[in-house]
Amino acid sequence: MYIPEDFIERLLNSVNIVEVIQKRRQVERRGGAYMAKCPFHKGGEENNASMKIYEETGTYHCFTCKETGNAISFLRKHDNLDFLEAVELLASYIGMEIPKQESNSSVIKATNINNRASEIFYKQLKEESGKNTISYLKDRGISGETAKFFNLGYSNAKAPSLNEVLSKEFNQEELNESGLFGKNDDGEFYDRFRDRLMFPIRNIKGDSIAFGGRLLVDKENQAKYLNSPETKTYKKKYELYGLYEVRQIDKRPDSIFVVEGYMDVIGLFQHGVKNAVASSGTAFTQEQLRKILNYTNTIYIVFDGDEAGLKASWRTVENAMPLLREDTRISFIFLKEGDDPDSFIKENGKEAFCNLAKDSKSLSNYFFETLKQQDDLSSIEGRSIAAKFAIPLIKSISNETIKQAYINEASNVCDIDFAKLIQGDESKKQINSPKKEKPVVDTKSIMKKSVLGIFMALIQHPKLANSKLFNLVNPDSNFSFMLEIRDIYIKHPNSAASIILEKIDQEKIKNVFGEALVSEIKISEEDALSMIEDCIALISQTYSEREEILKEKYNMSELTSSEKRELQQIILKKVRMSQEEEALIKNLSSG
Ligand SMILES: [Zn+2]
Repeated sequence: MYIPEDFIERLLNSVNIVEVIQKRRQVERRGGAYMAKCPFHKGGEENNASMKIYEETGTYHCFTCKETGNAISFLRKHDNLDFLEAVELLASYIGMEIPKQESNSSVIKATNINNRASEIFYKQLKEESGKNTISYLKDRGISGETAKFFNLGYSNAKAPSLNEVLSKEFNQEELNESGLFGKNDDGEFYDRFRDRLMFPIRNIKGDSIAFGGRLLVDKENQAKYLNSPETKTYKKKYELYGLYEVRQIDKRPDSIFVVEGYMDVIGLFQHGVKNAVASSGTAFTQEQLRKILNYTNTIYIVFDGDEAGLKASWRTVENAMPLLREDTRISFIFLKEGDDPDSFIKENGKEAFCNLAKDSKSLSNYFFETLKQQDDLSSIEGRSIAAKFAIPLIKSISNETIKQAYINEASNVCDIDFAKLIQGDESKKQINSPKKEKPVVDTKSIMKKSVLGIFMALIQHPKLANSKLFNLVNPDSNFSFMLEIRDIYIKHPNSAASIILEKIDQEKIKNVFGEALVSEIKISEEDALSMIEDCIALISQTYSEREEILKEKYNMSELTSSEKRELQQIILKKVRMSQEEEALIKNLSSG
């Protein structure tokens, strides 16, 4: 699916970026500006808020790590969403409908192929060959209506193969990327799913992006359940089976149940519990949790009553800790041994199942129960062991209020001052690894972001090319291209950015310019100017740092010949050379 550009523009104009960020971070009002602690800093959370949020332009900019963007890029990065998901989520905040439009991009092909396969599987279920599958579903109490709602299907075992059918519409390379086919040792393609009940896994838009397939009759060397592999359109850790279907019933449900299997989702639905999703056989990931929290604040995670269920539940606690907020309610339901949600609701009915939710165990209760079981808390040793167990988990909580509450409770339980313990743990780390004291900054990516920022500013406000700020760029630095681009802008003040792009020779620079071009971030002229200023300052700073490094290397006789030339260039361009530098130049030329 392709979203028209004007929709994105309308969307970005309609959402309030302050509110979007406020849902996830604490936002302070400072004078007329909004500031937040930047979540994108490398090396962890910063102490002071250095991310400025521009309500008017709908953008943010971090003055430390230079991360900049709009509401879409914020959500993509903060919530780990892809572009479509971020747009969808934003649109849902303000109740805008996304217009659907087809695109011919190759990534979309894989979705089209899976969508086609879904249609074919559905059709085959109703044919003669699907009879056994239908009676299986009937035996399990699944109505035709439910089967249709979930678009259940059947994958043929007989000719023609799915590959044969679809190769009339798509080329083999495209089919290969759909995840529906495997390749045997002779290089021939075969259908991954044969003679199976098919569960299409749909993304939030309703496109089939992958499948789960269940064997109805045990076969040697074949897994009972088989899933699509990861493809361009299907990333397991982000997807939830049934989420699209839940949202067909209610866009923002009061709560969502998370279960283990496809049949659990369908069985619950059949009995009237229409807000269940499954994690498709994988452990429940942080990305999935985060995704669900976009649509509801209350999650009940149901674990089968076996060893594997218990293990999975604790992993879920670990994954959930960083996402906890004051308004999230994550609870656990532990079924009795041998039970799963499907069998439970079949035996006990909807009401009994909903009562499980009422009696569920909150994440915090579960956390502290588990903490208390770590050791004998009546002994100092036992309390220390429990504290050791809790520290990393409590530290992973990013919400300050929640973290404080956990610290207090853990201090009571273990009779140890957790605030001090956590602080001590952090300062000890700093002593052990002095490098970490400074925020870890990836110079290369900061440079790229700076260049990107300048390009974006120029693209939107070409007349800023006349700014004297550009004179600060050293023409002999690696950033001289910046001046060339400035000159192109001055020469062609009315050219479209796409035309400027054509005039850039260096492929690498062209790519960065192209990236700036597609960015939907809108910046005011004033912000653009201050962005250019920030970015150029950063670039020149690195440039003089480079000079220092080279000089130091020279003193230690470690310069390579290309570095010698580089240092020469740097010094030669100086308006005024120090005596030392003059001597250095001579030495560099002779050596
Ligand atoms: Zn930052």
